[in-house]
This record gives sequence, structure tokens and C-alpha cells, in this order.
Amino acid sequence: MNEHGHCDEMLLHFSDYIDEELGPELCKVLESHLQECKNCTVVFNTMKRTIELYKPLENELSNDVRQRLYKKLDLADFYK
Ligand SMILES: [Zn+2]
Repeated sequence: MNEHGHCDEMLLHFSDYIDEELGPELCKVLESHLQECKNCTVVFNTMKRTIELYKPLENELSNDVRQRLYKKLDLADFYK
């Protein structure tokens, strides 16, 4: 735990951040966290790519399906 936030917490905000739905305060926290956390940077980049890849399907994907998709991609492994 440090002033730039906790990894688990950051992970929860990644998809909102990528969708540009995250508030400005949290954006700052997340960005500074990414600057110092390599694990989260890897996860973030993977998630970003995945979301961009699935963007055309976005209207058909509920949040629930998305979360399952992330699990399938083993993104959760970084936080075991
Ligand atoms: Zn982290």
C-alpha cells in the first residue's frame, strides 16, 4: 500500500479508465500508480488492447461478460 493506491483497487478502475468514464481524481491516482507499478502496467496494456479488440462488440458485451472475458484471459493471475 502506498500513496498512489493499491493494485487491487487500481485493477477495478482499469476498464472505466480505458472507457474514459473514470473521474479526474481517480485518473490521476491511477496514472501515477501505473508509473511506478510494472505489474499493473502490463495488465493495463493487455486490457487496453483487449478492449480495443472487442470494441466493435461492445454493445453486445455486458459488464458481466467482460469480467468473465478478463478472467478467461488470465489477467487475474497477476494478483494471485
Ligand atoms: Zn499496481
